Amino acid sequence: MSADDMWDEDGFRGLTSDFDPDWVLSDAQKDLRARLIDLCRTTLRANAIESDKGFTFPRKNFEALASLGLLGLNVPKSLGGLGENHVAMAMVVETIARYGCASTAMCYVMHCAAVAGAMLRHHDNQAIQDLMRRLDKDCLVGTLSLSDPATGSHVWFLISSKAEKDGDGWRISKKASWTTSGGFADWYIAQTTSPDFDGDYGNFSTWLVMGDEITAHPGSWDGMGLKGNQSGPIEIDDLRVAADRLVGPVGDGATSNEEATDPFFLFGTAACWNGIAMGMIDIVRKHTTRKKHVDVGLRVCDYPTIQDYVGEAIIATNASRLLTYQVCRLMDDITNGCDWSIHADAANNPRADTAAWSWQAKYVAAANVSHVGDKMLHASGGTGYKAGLGLERYLRDGKAGWLMAPTNEVIRNFIGKAGLLGFEALDLWNQQVSQRTIDNEIKKMSPDQKRALADKLLEQARESAA
Ligand SMILES: Cc1cc2nc3c(=O)[nH]c(=O)nc-3n(C[C@H](O)[C@H](O)[C@H](O)COP(=O)(O)OP(=O)(O)OC[C@H]3O[C@@H](n4cnc5c(N)ncnc54)[C@H](O)[C@@H]3O)c2cc1C
Repeated sequence: MSADDMWDEDGFRGLTSDFDPDWVLSDAQKDLRARLIDLCRTTLRANAIESDKGFTFPRKNFEALASLGLLGLNVPKSLGGLGENHVAMAMVVETIARYGCASTAMCYVMHCAAVAGAMLRHHDNQAIQDLMRRLDKDCLVGTLSLSDPATGSHVWFLISSKAEKDGDGWRISKKASWTTSGGFADWYIAQTTSPDFDGDYGNFSTWLVMGDEITAHPGSWDGMGLKGNQSGPIEIDDLRVAADRLVGPVGDGATSNEEATDPFFLFGTAACWNGIAMGMIDIVRKHTTRKKHVDVGLRVCDYPTIQDYVGEAIIATNASRLLTYQVCRLMDDITNGCDWSIHADAANNPRADTAAWSWQAKYVAAANVSHVGDKMLHASGGTGYKAGLGLERYLRDGKAGWLMAPTNEVIRNFIGKAGLLGFEALDLWNQQVSQRTIDNEIKKMSPDQKRALADKLLEQARESAA
Protein backbone atom coordinates (compact mmCIF):
# COMPACT_ATOMS: atom_id res chain seq x y z
CA MET A 1 0.00 0.00 0.00
CA SER A 2 1.42 3.41 -0.88
CA ALA A 3 1.07 6.58 1.13
CA ASP A 4 -1.16 7.80 -1.69
CA ASP A 5 -3.83 5.32 -0.63
CA MET A 6 -3.79 6.50 2.96
CA TRP A 7 -3.57 10.26 2.69
CA ASP A 8 -6.11 12.93 3.45
CA GLU A 9 -8.83 14.42 1.29
CA ASP A 10 -6.38 16.93 -0.22
CA GLY A 11 -4.54 13.98 -1.72
CA PHE A 12 -0.91 13.16 -1.04
CA ARG A 13 0.08 12.54 -4.66
CA GLY A 14 3.72 11.89 -3.81
CA LEU A 15 5.80 9.13 -5.37
CA THR A 16 4.11 5.75 -5.36
CA SER A 17 5.56 2.83 -3.41
CA ASP A 18 7.15 1.57 -6.66
CA PHE A 19 10.09 3.69 -5.59
CA ASP A 20 10.45 2.35 -2.05
CA PRO A 21 13.00 -0.44 -1.43
CA ASP A 22 10.44 -2.44 0.53
CA TRP A 23 12.36 -5.70 0.26
CA VAL A 24 14.60 -4.51 3.12
CA LEU A 25 11.64 -4.47 5.53
CA SER A 26 9.94 -7.31 7.37
CA ASP A 27 6.14 -7.54 7.29
CA ALA A 28 6.00 -6.22 10.87
CA GLN A 29 8.13 -3.25 9.83
CA LYS A 30 5.88 -2.51 6.86
CA ASP A 31 2.89 -2.61 9.17
CA LEU A 32 4.63 -0.25 11.60
CA ARG A 33 5.43 2.10 8.73
CA ALA A 34 1.79 2.16 7.62
CA ARG A 35 0.68 3.10 11.14
CA LEU A 36 3.43 5.73 11.35
CA ILE A 37 2.46 7.28 8.00
CA ASP A 38 -1.06 7.56 9.33
CA LEU A 39 0.22 9.28 12.48
CA CYS A 40 2.16 11.68 10.26
CA ARG A 41 -1.03 12.43 8.34
CA THR A 42 -3.15 13.06 11.42
CA THR A 43 -0.59 14.68 13.72
CA LEU A 44 3.09 15.09 12.90
CA ARG A 45 2.85 17.00 9.62
CA ALA A 46 0.70 19.80 11.01
CA ASN A 47 2.94 20.11 14.05
CA ALA A 48 5.95 20.44 11.73
CA ILE A 49 4.56 23.72 10.44
CA GLU A 50 3.98 24.91 14.02
CA SER A 51 7.54 23.92 15.04
CA ASP A 52 9.00 25.72 12.05
CA LYS A 53 7.02 28.92 12.61
CA GLY A 54 7.63 29.21 16.32
CA PHE A 55 10.87 27.28 17.02
CA THR A 56 8.61 24.93 18.97
CA PHE A 57 10.12 21.75 20.37
CA PRO A 58 8.02 18.86 18.97
CA ARG A 59 6.94 17.46 22.34
CA LYS A 60 3.45 16.76 20.95
CA ASN A 61 4.98 14.69 18.15
CA PHE A 62 7.00 12.69 20.68
CA GLU A 63 3.82 11.97 22.62
CA ALA A 64 2.33 10.69 19.37
CA LEU A 65 5.41 8.55 18.67
CA ALA A 66 5.24 7.14 22.20
CA SER A 67 1.68 5.99 21.46
CA LEU A 68 3.19 3.58 18.91
CA GLY A 69 5.95 2.50 21.32
CA LEU A 70 8.58 4.15 19.14
CA LEU A 71 10.66 5.69 21.93
CA GLY A 72 11.66 2.15 22.85
CA LEU A 73 12.02 0.97 19.23
CA ASN A 74 15.43 -0.66 19.78
CA VAL A 75 14.84 -1.54 23.43
CA PRO A 76 14.27 -5.27 23.98
CA LYS A 77 10.76 -6.49 24.74
CA SER A 78 11.95 -7.65 28.16
CA LEU A 79 12.42 -3.95 29.05
CA GLY A 80 9.12 -2.90 27.52
CA GLY A 81 10.42 -1.91 24.07
CA LEU A 82 9.61 -3.09 20.55
CA GLY A 83 12.86 -5.07 20.24
CA GLU A 84 13.39 -3.84 16.69
CA ASN A 85 16.59 -3.73 14.66
CA HIS A 86 18.75 -1.13 12.89
CA VAL A 87 16.81 -1.32 9.61
CA ALA A 88 13.63 -0.49 11.54
CA MET A 89 15.22 2.59 13.01
CA ALA A 90 16.30 3.87 9.58
CA MET A 91 12.78 3.20 8.26
CA VAL A 92 11.11 5.03 11.17
CA VAL A 93 13.40 8.06 10.89
CA GLU A 94 13.01 8.23 7.12
CA THR A 95 9.23 7.97 7.43
CA ILE A 96 8.99 10.70 10.08
CA ALA A 97 11.19 13.02 8.01
CA ARG A 98 9.40 12.28 4.74
CA TYR A 99 5.76 12.35 5.80
CA GLY A 100 5.81 14.09 9.17
CA CYS A 101 8.34 16.51 10.59
CA ALA A 102 12.09 16.76 9.95
CA SER A 103 12.77 18.44 13.31
CA THR A 104 11.03 15.54 15.04
CA ALA A 105 13.04 13.08 12.94
CA MET A 106 16.31 14.71 14.01
CA CYS A 107 15.33 14.82 17.69
CA TYR A 108 14.25 11.19 17.35
CA VAL A 109 17.64 10.22 15.87
CA MET A 110 19.37 11.78 18.86
CA HIS A 111 16.93 10.00 21.18
CA CYS A 112 17.67 6.62 19.56
CA ALA A 113 21.43 7.27 19.64
CA ALA A 114 21.14 8.09 23.36
CA VAL A 115 19.11 4.90 23.89
CA ALA A 116 21.89 2.98 22.11
CA GLY A 117 24.52 4.53 24.39
CA ALA A 118 22.45 3.57 27.42
CA MET A 119 21.54 0.06 26.21
CA LEU A 120 25.17 -0.76 25.45
CA ARG A 121 25.89 -0.64 29.18
CA HIS A 122 22.49 -1.40 30.72
CA HIS A 123 23.37 -4.89 31.89
CA ASP A 124 24.26 -4.16 35.49
CA ASN A 125 22.92 -0.62 35.73
CA GLN A 126 19.56 -0.27 37.50
CA ALA A 127 19.16 3.44 36.70
CA ILE A 128 19.39 2.72 32.97
CA GLN A 129 17.06 -0.27 33.12
CA ASP A 130 14.42 1.76 35.00
CA LEU A 131 14.70 4.56 32.46
CA MET A 132 14.37 2.21 29.48
CA ARG A 133 11.20 0.67 30.96
CA ARG A 134 9.56 4.11 31.20
CA LEU A 135 10.49 5.58 27.80
CA ASP A 136 7.10 5.24 26.14
CA LYS A 137 4.90 5.08 29.23
CA ASP A 138 6.16 8.46 30.48
CA CYS A 139 7.29 9.82 27.08
CA LEU A 140 10.89 10.33 28.22
CA VAL A 141 12.87 11.95 25.42
CA GLY A 142 16.63 11.45 25.47
CA THR A 143 19.46 13.09 23.58
CA LEU A 144 23.23 13.18 23.17
CA SER A 145 25.36 16.03 24.40
CA LEU A 146 28.79 16.05 22.82
CA SER A 147 30.05 19.14 21.02
CA ASP A 148 32.35 21.39 22.96
CA PRO A 149 32.53 25.16 22.41
CA ALA A 150 36.33 24.91 22.24
CA THR A 151 36.55 22.33 19.47
CA GLY A 152 33.66 23.08 17.07
CA SER A 153 32.83 20.22 14.79
CA HIS A 154 35.52 18.00 16.36
CA VAL A 155 32.77 16.87 18.72
CA TRP A 156 34.77 13.96 20.11
CA PHE A 157 37.32 16.31 21.70
CA LEU A 158 35.98 17.28 25.14
CA ILE A 159 38.10 20.13 26.41
CA SER A 160 35.47 22.06 28.42
CA SER A 161 34.58 19.22 30.76
CA LYS A 162 35.78 17.38 33.84
CA ALA A 163 34.78 14.63 36.27
CA GLU A 164 36.04 13.59 39.67
CA LYS A 165 35.25 11.02 42.34
CA ASP A 166 33.10 12.31 45.20
CA GLY A 167 32.60 9.75 47.96
CA ASP A 168 30.60 6.91 46.48
CA GLY A 169 29.44 9.08 43.56
CA TRP A 170 30.90 11.55 41.08
CA ARG A 171 31.04 15.26 40.32
CA ILE A 172 30.81 16.27 36.67
CA SER A 173 30.97 19.51 34.72
CA LYS A 174 30.59 20.17 31.04
CA LYS A 175 29.87 22.83 28.45
CA ALA A 176 28.25 21.76 25.18
CA SER A 177 27.82 24.23 22.35
CA TRP A 178 25.02 22.38 20.58
CA THR A 179 22.63 19.81 21.96
CA THR A 180 19.58 18.73 19.98
CA SER A 181 16.51 18.91 22.24
CA GLY A 182 18.72 20.91 24.65
CA GLY A 183 16.61 22.05 27.59
CA PHE A 184 13.62 19.99 26.41
CA ALA A 185 14.96 16.46 26.74
CA ASP A 186 14.13 14.45 29.85
CA TRP A 187 17.54 12.76 29.93
CA TYR A 188 20.96 13.14 28.38
CA ILE A 189 23.82 10.86 27.50
CA ALA A 190 26.67 13.28 28.16
CA GLN A 191 30.42 12.81 28.02
CA THR A 192 33.29 14.36 29.97
CA THR A 193 36.98 13.66 30.31
CA SER A 194 37.48 10.79 32.75
CA PRO A 195 37.94 11.18 36.52
CA ASP A 196 41.52 9.91 36.08
CA PHE A 197 42.18 12.29 33.15
CA ASP A 198 45.89 12.96 32.66
CA GLY A 199 45.95 15.02 29.46
CA ASP A 200 44.89 12.20 27.10
CA TYR A 201 41.65 13.41 25.50
CA GLY A 202 41.01 9.90 24.25
CA ASN A 203 40.24 9.03 27.88
CA PHE A 204 36.64 10.12 28.46
CA SER A 205 33.56 8.75 30.16
CA THR A 206 29.82 8.62 29.56
CA TRP A 207 27.14 9.79 32.00
CA LEU A 208 23.39 9.64 32.37
CA VAL A 209 22.13 13.11 33.33
CA MET A 210 18.51 14.07 33.90
CA GLY A 211 16.74 17.07 32.38
CA ASP A 212 16.45 19.00 35.65
CA GLU A 213 20.20 18.69 36.28
CA ILE A 214 21.43 20.75 33.34
CA THR A 215 21.30 24.43 32.50
CA ALA A 216 19.96 25.21 29.04
CA HIS A 217 19.20 28.33 27.04
CA PRO A 218 16.29 27.15 24.90
CA GLY A 219 15.33 30.56 23.53
CA SER A 220 18.78 30.95 22.01
CA TRP A 221 18.27 28.46 19.16
CA ASP A 222 17.78 30.35 15.91
CA GLY A 223 18.93 27.97 13.15
CA MET A 224 17.75 28.50 9.55
CA GLY A 225 16.08 25.08 9.55
CA LEU A 226 15.24 22.16 11.82
CA LYS A 227 13.77 24.90 13.96
CA GLY A 228 12.06 22.51 16.34
CA ASN A 229 15.27 20.60 17.08
CA GLN A 230 16.36 23.28 19.56
CA SER A 231 20.06 22.54 19.33
CA GLY A 232 21.20 25.14 21.83
CA PRO A 233 24.09 25.18 24.32
CA ILE A 234 23.82 23.38 27.64
CA GLU A 235 25.95 23.29 30.77
CA ILE A 236 26.42 20.82 33.58
CA ASP A 237 27.89 22.67 36.50
CA ASP A 238 29.69 20.69 39.20
CA LEU A 239 26.80 18.24 39.39
CA ARG A 240 26.97 15.49 41.98
CA VAL A 241 25.58 12.22 40.64
CA ALA A 242 25.21 8.75 42.12
CA ALA A 243 27.61 5.97 41.16
CA ASP A 244 25.20 4.36 38.68
CA ARG A 245 25.01 7.49 36.53
CA LEU A 246 28.37 6.49 35.09
CA VAL A 247 27.41 4.59 31.93
CA GLY A 248 29.85 1.71 31.57
CA PRO A 249 33.29 1.77 33.15
CA VAL A 250 35.49 4.85 33.55
CA GLY A 251 37.12 5.60 30.19
CA ASP A 252 34.40 3.86 28.16
CA GLY A 253 33.57 7.02 26.16
CA ALA A 254 35.41 6.16 22.94
CA THR A 255 33.97 2.63 22.91
CA SER A 256 30.49 4.00 23.64
CA ASN A 257 30.82 6.34 20.67
CA GLU A 258 32.25 3.78 18.26
CA GLU A 259 29.91 0.95 19.20
CA ALA A 260 26.65 2.73 19.95
CA THR A 261 26.09 6.46 19.67
CA ASP A 262 28.09 7.15 16.49
CA PRO A 263 26.65 4.40 14.30
CA PHE A 264 23.08 5.14 15.41
CA PHE A 265 23.61 8.85 14.90
CA LEU A 266 25.27 8.40 11.50
CA PHE A 267 22.87 5.96 9.83
CA GLY A 268 19.99 7.69 11.66
CA THR A 269 20.85 11.11 10.29
CA ALA A 270 21.45 9.57 6.85
CA ALA A 271 17.89 8.23 7.03
CA CYS A 272 16.66 11.68 8.05
CA TRP A 273 18.31 13.35 5.03
CA ASN A 274 16.98 10.58 2.77
CA GLY A 275 13.47 11.13 4.13
CA ILE A 276 13.71 14.88 3.55
CA ALA A 277 14.91 14.28 -0.03
CA MET A 278 11.98 11.93 -0.69
CA GLY A 279 9.60 14.45 0.91
CA MET A 280 10.79 17.13 -1.50
CA ILE A 281 10.35 14.83 -4.51
CA ASP A 282 6.82 14.04 -3.24
CA ILE A 283 5.97 17.73 -3.07
CA VAL A 284 7.31 18.34 -6.56
CA ARG A 285 5.29 15.45 -7.97
CA LYS A 286 2.13 16.79 -6.38
CA HIS A 287 2.76 20.34 -7.56
CA THR A 288 4.01 19.71 -11.09
CA THR A 289 1.26 17.24 -11.95
CA ARG A 290 -1.34 19.88 -11.02
CA LYS A 291 0.16 23.11 -12.31
CA LYS A 292 -0.84 23.85 -15.93
CA HIS A 293 0.42 26.30 -18.54
CA VAL A 294 -2.74 27.12 -20.44
CA ASP A 295 -0.90 28.68 -23.41
CA VAL A 296 0.73 25.36 -24.41
CA GLY A 297 -1.78 23.06 -22.72
CA LEU A 298 0.91 21.26 -20.74
CA ARG A 299 1.39 20.59 -17.08
CA VAL A 300 4.82 21.37 -15.58
CA CYS A 301 5.44 17.62 -15.20
CA ASP A 302 5.08 17.20 -18.98
CA TYR A 303 8.33 19.04 -19.70
CA PRO A 304 11.27 16.65 -20.18
CA THR A 305 13.47 19.06 -18.19
CA ILE A 306 11.29 18.56 -15.13
CA GLN A 307 11.11 14.80 -15.71
CA ASP A 308 14.93 14.74 -15.82
CA TYR A 309 15.21 16.68 -12.56
CA VAL A 310 12.87 14.23 -10.85
CA GLY A 311 14.46 11.18 -12.47
CA GLU A 312 17.91 12.19 -11.30
CA ALA A 313 16.60 12.98 -7.80
CA ILE A 314 14.86 9.59 -7.47
CA ILE A 315 17.90 7.64 -8.69
CA ALA A 316 20.39 9.47 -6.48
CA THR A 317 18.14 9.39 -3.41
CA ASN A 318 17.42 5.71 -3.80
CA ALA A 319 21.16 5.01 -4.16
CA SER A 320 21.60 6.84 -0.86
CA ARG A 321 18.66 5.01 0.79
CA LEU A 322 20.04 1.65 -0.29
CA LEU A 323 23.47 2.49 1.10
CA THR A 324 21.89 3.50 4.41
CA TYR A 325 19.79 0.33 4.57
CA GLN A 326 22.79 -1.83 3.62
CA VAL A 327 24.78 -0.31 6.49
CA CYS A 328 21.85 -1.10 8.80
CA ARG A 329 21.70 -4.66 7.49
CA LEU A 330 25.41 -5.00 8.18
CA MET A 331 24.77 -3.83 11.76
CA ASP A 332 21.89 -6.28 12.08
CA ASP A 333 24.04 -9.14 10.80
CA ILE A 334 26.87 -8.53 13.24
CA THR A 335 24.68 -7.90 16.31
CA ASN A 336 22.04 -10.56 15.92
CA GLY A 337 19.45 -7.97 14.87
CA CYS A 338 20.41 -5.39 17.53
CA ASP A 339 20.55 -7.83 20.41
CA TRP A 340 22.03 -5.82 23.28
CA SER A 341 22.70 -8.94 25.33
CA ILE A 342 25.81 -9.61 23.22
CA HIS A 343 27.44 -6.67 25.03
CA ALA A 344 27.21 -8.35 28.42
CA ASP A 345 30.76 -9.16 27.42
CA ALA A 346 31.95 -5.52 27.36
CA ALA A 347 34.75 -6.42 24.97
CA ASN A 348 32.27 -7.52 22.28
CA ASN A 349 31.92 -4.41 20.11
CA PRO A 350 31.33 -5.47 16.51
CA ARG A 351 29.91 -2.17 15.22
CA ALA A 352 33.13 -0.36 16.09
CA ASP A 353 34.88 -1.90 13.07
CA THR A 354 32.29 -0.59 10.63
CA ALA A 355 32.69 3.18 11.13
CA ALA A 356 33.82 3.83 7.57
CA TRP A 357 30.49 2.55 6.25
CA SER A 358 28.41 4.75 8.56
CA TRP A 359 30.52 7.78 7.66
CA GLN A 360 30.00 7.11 3.95
CA ALA A 361 26.24 6.69 4.38
CA LYS A 362 26.01 10.02 6.23
CA TYR A 363 28.19 11.77 3.64
CA VAL A 364 26.20 10.52 0.66
CA ALA A 365 22.80 11.28 2.21
CA ALA A 366 23.80 14.78 3.39
CA ALA A 367 25.34 15.69 0.03
CA ASN A 368 22.33 14.27 -1.81
CA VAL A 369 19.65 16.10 0.19
CA SER A 370 21.34 19.41 -0.48
CA HIS A 371 21.56 18.76 -4.24
CA VAL A 372 18.02 17.37 -4.45
CA GLY A 373 16.71 20.39 -2.51
CA ASP A 374 18.23 22.78 -5.03
CA LYS A 375 16.91 20.79 -8.00
CA MET A 376 13.42 20.36 -6.58
CA LEU A 377 13.32 24.11 -6.00
CA HIS A 378 14.27 24.64 -9.65
CA ALA A 379 11.59 22.15 -10.73
CA SER A 380 8.86 23.86 -8.73
CA GLY A 381 9.72 27.39 -9.85
CA GLY A 382 8.84 30.49 -7.87
CA THR A 383 5.98 28.63 -6.19
CA GLY A 384 8.56 26.46 -4.43
CA TYR A 385 10.31 29.53 -3.10
CA LYS A 386 7.19 30.47 -1.13
CA ALA A 387 6.31 28.84 2.16
CA GLY A 388 2.88 27.63 1.01
CA LEU A 389 4.18 24.67 -1.01
CA GLY A 390 6.14 23.36 1.97
CA LEU A 391 9.28 22.78 -0.08
CA GLU A 392 11.35 25.63 1.32
CA ARG A 393 11.03 24.27 4.87
CA TYR A 394 12.35 20.87 3.76
CA LEU A 395 15.13 22.60 1.85
CA ARG A 396 16.21 24.61 4.92
CA ASP A 397 15.94 21.54 7.13
CA GLY A 398 18.06 19.45 4.76
CA LYS A 399 20.88 21.99 4.65
CA ALA A 400 21.86 20.97 8.20
CA GLY A 401 23.02 17.59 6.91
CA TRP A 402 26.33 18.73 5.48
CA LEU A 403 27.16 20.74 8.61
CA MET A 404 26.34 18.26 11.32
CA ALA A 405 29.36 16.55 12.79
CA PRO A 406 31.24 14.79 11.49
CA THR A 407 30.82 17.45 8.79
CA ASN A 408 31.06 16.30 5.22
CA GLU A 409 34.45 18.04 4.92
CA VAL A 410 35.71 16.01 7.88
CA ILE A 411 34.21 12.73 6.62
CA ARG A 412 35.66 12.95 3.15
CA ASN A 413 39.04 13.76 4.68
CA PHE A 414 38.75 10.77 7.08
CA ILE A 415 37.84 8.43 4.23
CA GLY A 416 40.52 9.77 1.89
CA LYS A 417 43.19 9.72 4.57
CA ALA A 418 42.24 6.22 5.74
CA GLY A 419 42.13 5.04 2.15
CA LEU A 420 45.60 6.37 1.42
CA LEU A 421 47.37 5.98 4.74
CA GLY A 422 45.33 3.58 6.87
CA PHE A 423 42.87 4.25 9.72
CA GLU A 424 45.65 4.77 12.27
CA ALA A 425 46.59 7.95 10.37
CA LEU A 426 43.31 9.63 11.45
CA ASP A 427 44.84 10.63 14.80
CA LEU A 428 41.52 11.71 16.36
CA TRP A 429 43.14 12.65 19.65
CA ASN A 430 45.94 14.73 18.14
CA GLN A 431 48.66 12.45 19.51
CA GLN A 432 50.76 11.48 16.51
CA VAL A 433 53.89 13.53 15.82
CA SER A 434 54.37 14.46 12.19
CA GLN A 435 58.10 13.97 11.79
CA ARG A 436 57.92 15.06 8.16
CA THR A 437 56.45 18.44 9.14
CA ILE A 438 59.01 18.94 11.91
CA ASP A 439 61.94 18.05 9.64
CA ASN A 440 60.63 20.31 6.91
CA GLU A 441 60.19 23.32 9.22
CA ILE A 442 63.60 22.83 10.89
CA LYS A 443 65.19 22.72 7.43
CA LYS A 444 64.08 26.34 6.96
CA MET A 445 65.75 27.63 10.19
CA SER A 446 69.03 29.47 10.65
CA PRO A 447 71.59 28.05 13.17
CA ASP A 448 70.45 30.69 15.73
CA GLN A 449 66.80 29.75 15.30
CA LYS A 450 67.68 26.07 15.74
CA ARG A 451 69.63 26.85 18.94
CA ALA A 452 66.70 28.91 20.30
CA LEU A 453 64.28 26.10 19.49
CA ALA A 454 66.56 23.53 21.12
CA ASP A 455 66.77 25.66 24.32
CA LYS A 456 62.98 26.04 24.39
CA LEU A 457 62.44 22.30 23.92
CA LEU A 458 64.96 21.42 26.63
CA GLU A 459 63.17 23.78 29.02
CA GLN A 460 59.79 22.21 28.17
CA ALA A 461 61.24 18.70 28.60
CA ARG A 462 62.58 19.67 32.05
CA GLU A 463 59.15 21.07 33.05
CA SER A 464 57.30 17.95 31.80
CA ALA A 465 59.72 15.66 33.64
CA ALA A 466 59.26 17.70 36.84
C1 LIG B 1 20.72 21.58 13.19
C2 LIG B 1 21.94 21.21 13.96
C3 LIG B 1 21.84 20.39 15.06
C4 LIG B 1 22.97 20.04 15.79
N1 LIG B 1 22.83 19.24 16.87
C5 LIG B 1 23.91 18.85 17.57
C6 LIG B 1 23.80 18.00 18.71
O1 LIG B 1 22.72 17.58 19.07
N2 LIG B 1 24.91 17.64 19.39
C7 LIG B 1 26.12 18.07 19.01
O2 LIG B 1 27.09 17.68 19.66
N3 LIG B 1 26.28 18.90 17.96
C8 LIG B 1 25.19 19.30 17.23
N4 LIG B 1 25.33 20.15 16.16
C9 LIG B 1 26.65 20.70 15.91
C10 LIG B 1 27.32 20.03 14.74
O3 LIG B 1 27.45 18.66 14.99
C11 LIG B 1 28.69 20.65 14.50
O4 LIG B 1 29.49 20.50 15.62
C12 LIG B 1 28.57 22.11 14.20
O5 LIG B 1 27.67 22.29 13.14
C13 LIG B 1 29.93 22.65 13.83
O6 LIG B 1 29.81 24.06 13.70
P1 LIG B 1 31.05 25.02 13.89
O7 LIG B 1 30.54 26.39 13.58
O8 LIG B 1 31.71 24.78 15.20
O9 LIG B 1 32.00 24.55 12.71
P2 LIG B 1 33.57 24.54 12.65
O10 LIG B 1 34.12 23.40 13.42
O11 LIG B 1 34.09 25.90 12.98
O12 LIG B 1 33.80 24.24 11.10
C14 LIG B 1 33.89 25.27 10.09
C15 LIG B 1 34.33 24.63 8.79
O13 LIG B 1 35.59 23.97 8.98
C16 LIG B 1 35.48 22.63 8.52
N5 LIG B 1 36.35 21.76 9.30
C17 LIG B 1 36.37 21.58 10.65
N6 LIG B 1 37.30 20.67 10.97
C18 LIG B 1 37.87 20.26 9.83
C19 LIG B 1 38.88 19.31 9.51
N7 LIG B 1 39.49 18.60 10.47
N8 LIG B 1 39.18 19.12 8.21
C20 LIG B 1 38.57 19.83 7.23
N9 LIG B 1 37.61 20.74 7.47
C21 LIG B 1 37.26 20.94 8.74
C22 LIG B 1 34.01 22.28 8.73
O14 LIG B 1 33.65 21.15 7.96
C23 LIG B 1 33.35 23.56 8.28
O15 LIG B 1 33.33 23.60 6.88
C24 LIG B 1 24.23 20.52 15.41
C25 LIG B 1 24.34 21.34 14.28
C26 LIG B 1 23.22 21.68 13.56
C27 LIG B 1 23.37 22.56 12.33
